[in-house]
Amino acid sequence: MNRRDVLKLLGLALAAPALSACGAATDRSGAGTDRSGAGSGSVIVVGAGLAGLSAARALQRAGYTVTVLEARDRVGGRTASAPLGDGAHADLGASWIHGITGNPIEALARTELGLTLHRTDYDSHEIIAEGAPLSDARDATLEALSERLAEAIAAEQIRIDDEDDQPLGDFLDRFIRAQPAADQLALRYLVTTEIEQEYGASVADLSLQSYDDDAPVRGDDVLIGEGMAAIAEAVARGLDVQTGVAVERIARLADGVEITSNLGTLEADYCICTVPLGVLKAGRITFDPPLPSRQRAALDRLHMGLLDKLYLRFESRFWPADLDTQFLGRLAPESRWLELLNLHPTTGQPTLVGFNAGREAEALTDWTDAALIDAALDALAEIFGVPVPRPIATARTRWHADPWALGSYSSLGVGATPADRQALAEPAHDRLLLAGEHTHPTYPSTVHGAWLSGLRAAGQIQAL
Ligand SMILES: Cc1cc2nc3c(=O)[nH]c(=O)nc-3n(C[C@H](O)[C@H](O)[C@H](O)COP(=O)(O)OP(=O)(O)OC[C@H]3O[C@@H](n4cnc5c(N)ncnc54)[C@H](O)[C@@H]3O)c2cc1C
Repeated sequence: MNRRDVLKLLGLALAAPALSACGAATDRSGAGTDRSGAGSGSVIVVGAGLAGLSAARALQRAGYTVTVLEARDRVGGRTASAPLGDGAHADLGASWIHGITGNPIEALARTELGLTLHRTDYDSHEIIAEGAPLSDARDATLEALSERLAEAIAAEQIRIDDEDDQPLGDFLDRFIRAQPAADQLALRYLVTTEIEQEYGASVADLSLQSYDDDAPVRGDDVLIGEGMAAIAEAVARGLDVQTGVAVERIARLADGVEITSNLGTLEADYCICTVPLGVLKAGRITFDPPLPSRQRAALDRLHMGLLDKLYLRFESRFWPADLDTQFLGRLAPESRWLELLNLHPTTGQPTLVGFNAGREAEALTDWTDAALIDAALDALAEIFGVPVPRPIATARTRWHADPWALGSYSSLGVGATPADRQALAEPAHDRLLLAGEHTHPTYPSTVHGAWLSGLRAAGQIQAL
């Protein structure tokens, strides 16, 4: 989620590296088997998320022989859609295309693939406190508090300019404790819903100094009617993607790379490795030679966060019409199930989506489905003030426990800056590039950032 961006003033420059498009390579015999072949050489792309797929598509169009190796039995990585019955689905990873103006994913989804886009609107919201929706006056107070929070963080960033970085959460604790008691609950609500759920991380794990350093996006946020997974599935159709191949080692040869996986060894001229930050941090892939020290330091500083979702699909809308807004909040002393996305106003489906982020989400990872759903239904009862029926279909995520992601998306941990993402975006050596959302300095943690990072890596290979 990314509503913070609507407040930002700067423009968007989504210029992608220009790639020449000549006919798609047709040699599907496997990358690396013929490194002297026609075209511009062979490339193995590790990972079939949007970064890997955009890189593979661009290079294939430019005449390279490209093979994509993917550990899962599906493409799309952190874009995945699960059926919820009657044609409905749950977007388990990304849901929104954030900021459709100039966004390459919007262009791909709408123009090239003809998918249905549903606009969402953060102004369509109700926040419940003590059993009743906030009055307009209290809603305005909440907005003012949100601005005060942002201003306080910005002022503290300036004040500590020359000091060591510290956790954003340390400052926020001090700041909130110094506010009038009547405002503290609302401020904690804002921290959870506007910061932790946006960044997919607890404020205790985020940098104060680099907070809010990514670039703004322009235009509306939209959901994809057919599900976010439709994009990767469509793009992958024209590519040589081998699923069930878990890469274990990427080694440099005198004139290429050797990729070792659970299924054996392949060689190619170049490799683009797009596995998530969590997988890199955990050392699941061995690099020989090791990644340069500047990249290893960047991996240490960047944080792999967590945002988990619970989809609850009901037989029909049971909540009152005056609470049928797109977003529903709950001012409560705990920090879970504070905000819901209601799909009914946008898609007509009686489906509610709950979010939990950071350490709170980590703590819920081990909960059984039954316990998790019961707790969410209790929160719904508090929000709607009416009996809550059992859902007819549910879907939950556990991104932290997913071995091919080990978290949801990257953020700037204490001591990290956007320069760390830039370091990851530079060639590891003249045969190896990294790509993925974590390597995009301006649009990290998004589908369009992932896509652009793949195009960048493809452009870098063409320039080598
Ligand atoms: C819960 C959640 C909500 C989100 N919400 C949004 C949103 O609303 N809007 C938005 O723009 N973004 C959102 N994001 C972020 C967005 O999904 C990601 O930034 C983007 O999909 C990342 O793409 P990627 O190609 O970099 O990585 P991935 O999609 O993770 O692709 C990497 C691929 O590498 C594979 N892999 C891993 N290890 C190996 C290995 N050893 N060998 C071979 N393959 C391997 C993985 O299986 C995966 O398919 C969300 C993410 C999550 C998890």
